[in-house]
Amino acid sequence: DDDDSTGEEYLFKVVIIGDSAVGKSNLLSRYARNEFNPNSKATIGVEFQTQSLYIDRKEVKAQIWDTAGQERFRAVTSAYYRGAVGALLVYDISRRTTFESIGRWLDELNTHCDTTVSRMLVGNKCDLENIRDVSVEEGKSLAESEGLFFMETSALDSTNVKDAFEVVIKEIYKNVS
Ligand code: GDP
Ligand code: MG
Repeated sequence: DDDDSTGEEYLFKVVIIGDSAVGKSNLLSRYARNEFNPNSKATIGVEFQTQSLYIDRKEVKAQIWDTAGQERFRAVTSAYYRGAVGALLVYDISRRTTFESIGRWLDELNTHCDTTVSRMLVGNKCDLENIRDVSVEEGKSLAESEGLFFMETSALDSTNVKDAFEVVIKEIYKNVS
């Protein structure tokens, strides 16, 4: 509800990183458009989506960046990270290798951005409980040791998707306001 907005406005850049096929594009399309796409190829080409929310009656616009699949070639460029104040580091709870890659993604994030970036570790595809390969405890424990927020999400059934983005956005707001 923006009827009593103060007119003040914020714009925050948030990046989504993680291995190929962990569900980055679908987390963004679920959050920004409430859409899920079972065919991963169809999401290529989108650069970013802007999503507005109100915090303390101020309009906060999150410009959320998605890779165009270049993570497959380990070629996410510095332009992608430039100016980012928030990051979602995503793995797939049904594929351990994607969890083991998080350290490398953290290193890359730290190389390109300063450490004040608000960071959320996201274990996506929590609907795939029957083929889980990374426990909730392992996710929590990595997040604690690296100083990250942590949530398990499902872009398929919407579990925690809104919260994962908005916890990061609210933390960024808290740091600048
Ligand atoms: P990206 O390469 O990280 O952007 O991953 P995509 O968003 O393209 O998703 C890769 C594949 O995983 C696609 O087939 C999606 O439909 C599927 N996927 C994404 N999120 C979920 C989820 O939460 N649950 C399940 N079961 N599948 C998902
Ligand atoms: Mg993608």
